[in-house]
Amino acid sequence: MRRAIRGAVLFLIPALSLAQARPTPTPGHHDRKPDEVFRRQELSRGVHVLYGGGGNVGFLVGPDAVLVVDSQVRPLGPGVVKQIQGVTDKPIKYLLNTHHHGDHTGGNDAFRQFAVIIAHDNVRKRMREAPQTILREWPAELEEAKKKGDAESVAYIEDAIAWAKKIKIEEIAAPVITFESEVRIHIGDETIAIWHTPPAHTDGDSVVYFEKANVLHMGDLFFYKVIPFIDVKAGGSARGYIDAIDKVIARVPPDVKIIPGHGEVTDLAGLKTFRQYVADILDAARKAKVAGKSKEEFLKTVDLPAYKTWDGYGERFQESAAAAWDEAS
Ligand SMILES: [Zn+2]
Repeated sequence: MRRAIRGAVLFLIPALSLAQARPTPTPGHHDRKPDEVFRRQELSRGVHVLYGGGGNVGFLVGPDAVLVVDSQVRPLGPGVVKQIQGVTDKPIKYLLNTHHHGDHTGGNDAFRQFAVIIAHDNVRKRMREAPQTILREWPAELEEAKKKGDAESVAYIEDAIAWAKKIKIEEIAAPVITFESEVRIHIGDETIAIWHTPPAHTDGDSVVYFEKANVLHMGDLFFYKVIPFIDVKAGGSARGYIDAIDKVIARVPPDVKIIPGHGEVTDLAGLKTFRQYVADILDAARKAKVAGKSKEEFLKTVDLPAYKTWDGYGERFQESAAAAWDEAS
């Protein structure tokens, strides 16, 4: 997450998380060239990570094709393509989406002419439902933002509503190949497995594993040193995070390199600190329930000092605490 980029708002404000490939304005951005937001690192055997304004992008340069994982916020989509083309002249043939959120799929538009877009069934469904969802749910959010005097959110929501009113469903760059459980793609001698996990961040989460390179892209199933956003409205679940992470850990070697959806590349130990956060917030909610506290009392007093330095230990922390409360028993 880079503060200067507005697209991060897509997961900073949960109600906005359903925003898809829409013409996002990028105020606060005028003083920077779009390419300056990118930072790239090669991890192993042609697998790279590309950091930018929204969710982290991963890509593999194979002998005859490039495969990309996630596409950033819409304004950065063309920049992602340009960054990859700066590394290789091999054709970009595949784009995988780890889930439907706009900070991971907004740039799909920049890929659709040449790449096959692949994701879980629910990613396509939720992307294509986005206009109705926005028109149904966001006017209330707009009123709320106006009441708070939050000019930035007001502009953002108004823009999304305008987009939802005029977009035609076929103009949404949704995945064209979808799967229920998992798919493997073969490029050169590398096998890329993309598999769906139990609902955690959303009900369409997948992780992508580059077998030979031993690199795992986890999408927003993993926020490293960042408080997670649990999109309950899109089928997400705090307990689901634990289930999904445990299933992933059981399937990859202990020395795997991990690209989180947000935050720096890390390893299994990094993932375990994140799992601990989810376990701790669920445990705090359970203890508060046992102590007879109300949800309001819990949210007022909940504090997990170990995670204070994590990005989002404020509003997003409160939201994840609320999600944990609703599920704790
Ligand atoms: Zn997300």
